[in-house]
Amino acid sequence: MARGAGEPVRACVLGPSGRMGRAVLDAARGRSDLRIAAAVDRSDAGGLGVTVAEGVVAIADLEAGLAACDVYIDFTAPISSRAAAEAAARHRCAAVIGTTGLLPGDEAAIAQLARLAPIVVAANFSLGVNLVLGMVRQAARVLGPDWDAEVVETHHRAKRDAPSGTALMIARAIAAGHGADYDAVKRHTRDGDVGPRPRGEIGVSSVRGGDVVGDHTASFFGAGERLEISHRATSREIFAAGALRAAAWVVGQPPGRYDMLDVLGLQ
Ligand code: NAD
Repeated sequence: MARGAGEPVRACVLGPSGRMGRAVLDAARGRSDLRIAAAVDRSDAGGLGVTVAEGVVAIADLEAGLAACDVYIDFTAPISSRAAAEAAARHRCAAVIGTTGLLPGDEAAIAQLARLAPIVVAANFSLGVNLVLGMVRQAARVLGPDWDAEVVETHHRAKRDAPSGTALMIARAIAAGHGADYDAVKRHTRDGDVGPRPRGEIGVSSVRGGDVVGDHTASFFGAGERLEISHRATSREIFAAGALRAAAWVVGQPPGRYDMLDVLGLQ
């Protein structure tokens, strides 16, 4: 059923039992521009049948969830993000996708959805990280590859993918500032006799432990000085608030793939 004029955007949350799914549901309470219309989890998730928002219980039927919404919000796992994008293409449903660790086949399904519907894809929905992307790109452009660039990320012990999607975005922004092809200069962790550091290499290292929500530092090592640009997330609320802002923004946009810089008007 279509949404009436002036009515809030209807959102379907995927993975409502997950850390980010719960944060999105919490952040949606009290909003006037968006309401939770459905919540879909995997069929063996613990919280199926639980009420997650006013009049909404978590279900396992993705098709029913998509049929009830204008936009779905996906912080789950690559395999479910792919299945959701394929189903959403049939519904021409708008999307906000924050799942990281996506493989080429997952990306292809998302690219196909973007041909049919407007979608926002971001490995990080925080304002701060999106500013960091512009800052590291500018620093890399000014400093050049003679300043050794390294990215270190730290996350909680349950995180599955490494390096984090945000670290990859930061490292790619540095490569763009250098005018380099990221895949040709990247170095993800080091082990053994790796030899001297090549000029222009961009290193990315991952640390895992405890309940760290997400820390990222880009360091530029010059001769006799060092520049560090850091971001520390202390709460998932910032990602959830950014995702909801993206969801309210994306409904009604022309089909295509957008990022948080588009949502924030910083592009
Ligand atoms: P989590 O493990 O706590 O939650 C994952 C949720 O997805 C669970 O509810 C689970 O039941 C559901 N799920 C998993 N497989 C599924 C499937 N096949 N079908 C349907 N549902 C399925 O994970 P999390 O910490 O909430 O993170 C989820 C994703 O979001 C990760 O990829 C993480 O890196 C990413 N993330 C992105 C941002 C961002 O700003 N873009 C911020 C934080 C986390």
